[in-house]
Amino acid sequence: MKQNQQRGSGVYPGRVGARRLARSLGAAALAVLLAACVTTPITGRRSLNFYAVEEEVPLGAEAYEQLLSEETLITSGPEFDMVQRISARLVEAAAPEDPGYAWETRLIRSPTTANAFCLPGGKMAVYSGLIPIAQNEAALAAVMGHEIGHALARHGTERLTQSQALGVVTEVVNTTVEGASDYTALGGALIEYGVFLPWGRRQELEADRLGLVLMARAGYDPREAVGLWERMSALSGGSSTPSWLSTHPSGEDRIEQIQALLPEVLPIYEASRGR
Ligand SMILES: [Zn+2]
Repeated sequence: MKQNQQRGSGVYPGRVGARRLARSLGAAALAVLLAACVTTPITGRRSLNFYAVEEEVPLGAEAYEQLLSEETLITSGPEFDMVQRISARLVEAAAPEDPGYAWETRLIRSPTTANAFCLPGGKMAVYSGLIPIAQNEAALAAVMGHEIGHALARHGTERLTQSQALGVVTEVVNTTVEGASDYTALGGALIEYGVFLPWGRRQELEADRLGLVLMARAGYDPREAVGLWERMSALSGGSSTPSWLSTHPSGEDRIEQIQALLPEVLPIYEASRGR
């Protein structure tokens, strides 16, 4: 893209030249986008990602160290043991889709914070305030499975890619305004890959689906995810809204979607129980 940016910043070449330039920039950008197209495990959704897994792992690890340096960790006791047990079972369940992440889970002491995350590259954390809302190990596994789902689907770098792709488009269009109609193909491709779509909700539903599969494979009853979301919803809107809800927005139909997925994941759970 460097070469194109240099060309784009040159002298404005006139209407005909602009259209030619537009097409050439559009074709180059489209080639980059096609090369960066990846398929999400389990759901099969195709998405745009400029980042290799090898880049995600050190990026995530760096962010993790920074986050943890500002927190107090719980490093022993029954809650710590439970979080480590869930993490180990879910990571084992994710093995078929594991792109080579450096998995690690910490428990952060923060009784008023109901939250959890899994960074790109597999670094996870649970805030202790989530445990009373989860109420049981399977429900906590639902949250952690959902977080691992975001990581396996590579939603973090997908978001990064989207903002960068939008930057590319803006730059190209600004350079050759009169040739705007030449961008139909590029714009269409971007829309197809979801750059202009409301990702937040789709990413949430995708993470829900991946999480349900993982918890079922790990031997946790996926029906516990329904209770978890009911308890989360009951707390939303007031001063005790779990912080997890603000970073994981959900539509009113989330519980319905989870219930609709249960026939798909309950047989996986039954099979894992029988092992
Ligand atoms: Zn989420």
